[in-house]
Amino acid sequence: MTVRTRADLDKLPAYVAGRTIPGSIKLASNEVSEGPLPSAVAAINQAAGEVHRYPDMGVGLLTEALAARFDVDPERIAVGCGSVALCEQLVQATCTAEDEVIFPWRSFEAYPIITHVVGAKQVRVPLTAGHALDLEAMLAAITPATRLMFVCTPNNPTGTLLRRAELEAFLDRVPSDVLVVLDEAYFEFVSDPDGPDGVEIAKQRENVASMRTFSKAYGLAGLRVGYTVAPPEVAAALRKVSIPFSVNALAQVAAIASLEAQDELRKRCANVIAERERVHRELVAIGYEVPETQANFVWLPLGERTTEFNEHCLENRVVVRAFVGEGARVTIGQPEENDAFLAAARSFGRIGG
Ligand SMILES: *Cc1c(COP(=O)(O)O)cnc(C)c1O
Repeated sequence: MTVRTRADLDKLPAYVAGRTIPGSIKLASNEVSEGPLPSAVAAINQAAGEVHRYPDMGVGLLTEALAARFDVDPERIAVGCGSVALCEQLVQATCTAEDEVIFPWRSFEAYPIITHVVGAKQVRVPLTAGHALDLEAMLAAITPATRLMFVCTPNNPTGTLLRRAELEAFLDRVPSDVLVVLDEAYFEFVSDPDGPDGVEIAKQRENVASMRTFSKAYGLAGLRVGYTVAPPEVAAALRKVSIPFSVNALAQVAAIASLEAQDELRKRCANVIAERERVHRELVAIGYEVPETQANFVWLPLGERTTEFNEHCLENRVVVRAFVGEGARVTIGQPEENDAFLAAARSFGRIGG
């Protein structure tokens, strides 16, 4: 006899992480090349000598810092081991096997994996021809079994943003017993003044949660910490299903220090936004189709040419994230990294026409 694992896991796609290739420029995981904020590094160094102690299981100080920053009751906040852990907890907290989770597709690749592993039904709603979320189609997909909807804005991997007015109009039409999770992993990079602030929306609605992370703009991807501002009963359920001590001690102090370093954050986001606009402009000038982006990456919907483009970039020592048959997502890095990518994109244009 052999040990029996779940047979259905064989059919489950694995999460494909961006590759790290020594000597190459990694623009594959939407990390910020600049590194953690200097204040966070100082806090981590200081806390390093205390890691023989368990972390604060209730994540008290960070929860208070987030509550103060957003002017919400701490009861509305849940912190997770990365926002991807919160995605899983959200499905665990709302769904059993018969229930449905709606999400756009293509979007964050963790949604289908997590939904399947937890054991709920997944409903994928295709993006519009313009690579944006199709809110009408998402509304049409709602059934009495729907418990949860992920709304990713800006959307990973396409970069497209929902405007406040269209999002509010959509939320007005979602039944009040369906939880809408605004996945705002790239919120800090949004420069469009018409972009929504999910935390403000979550404060005003009984069935909306905003989910954000310290992994992207704050540069703490390696420490794993994200948070949600949610209705109090949802936040309580998330705490209930969380793995004890999953938010580690260094993550907690680094996140607090990062929150206090808003000037450092603003400066770095301004750099990313300026580089994003430059990269977008140059790609369009070369002749690529590039949807408008409000995140720290661009999306090249290359379809069948994606694999060839990916190989060409690798030959030029630039690692992008290829979605075979669909497109390539390329993170905005430091100016010289972006120059290396643009040079590869230019020479591919000459080869591929
Ligand atoms: C990166 C990302 C996350 C997950 O970030 P964590 O590192 O788990 O906090 C969540 N949602 C989207 C859309 C992302 O791109």
